[in-house]
Amino acid sequence: MKEIITIRDRQFELFIEQEIIEQGIKRIAAQINADLKGKNPIFLAVLNGAFMFAGELMKEVSIPSEITFVRLASYDGTTTTNHVQEVMGLNESIEGRCVVVVEDIVDSGNTMVALKEELEKLNPQEIKVATLLFKPAALRQKLHLDYVALEIPSDFIVGYGLDYDGYGRNLKDIYKVK
Ligand code: 5GP
Ligand code: MG
Repeated sequence: MKEIITIRDRQFELFIEQEIIEQGIKRIAAQINADLKGKNPIFLAVLNGAFMFAGELMKEVSIPSEITFVRLASYDGTTTTNHVQEVMGLNESIEGRCVVVVEDIVDSGNTMVALKEELEKLNPQEIKVATLLFKPAALRQKLHLDYVALEIPSDFIVGYGLDYDGYGRNLKDIYKVK
């Protein structure tokens, strides 16, 4: 029997344990250390969901780098993706920089495509994407992901920074909805 927990009105079952999550994070950190050596990257972690992933990832990143945290405010617009992501809290210039977006999860890909469009306007040298989780079967955008810690099926999940109705971000393992 898998461990079952209740968050608000829903039941969730244990899906991916911390040890497996952190193996995935270590693997992509090693790739980043090799690929981005000498590029002095600036990591841009997207709150709230990526806070735990960003913390664990950065402990494994050993090259000179910066990290900063942003929030997205989405509203409907008329871009190709039909919604715009306003990037809030970015005080550092990313012009000419190697930017690594640190996200919790890529589902349809809409959020990431819109975020990349916004960041491109700030003239970075390049934008890499690191995501803790990726649901390949749900992707509806043409989007290249540089670093993926774990690929998962399209179920709704919580834990390791991801929430259900604001709760569950503190869980050290990942759970999926029953
Ligand atoms: P996308 O724009 O790729 O469809 O969705 C990205 C956003 O949807 C994520 O940043 C996250 O906020 C939310 N999301 C997608 N799938 C899940 C999930 O399984 N669990 C949680 N908690 N959020 C999800
Ligand atoms: Mg997110």
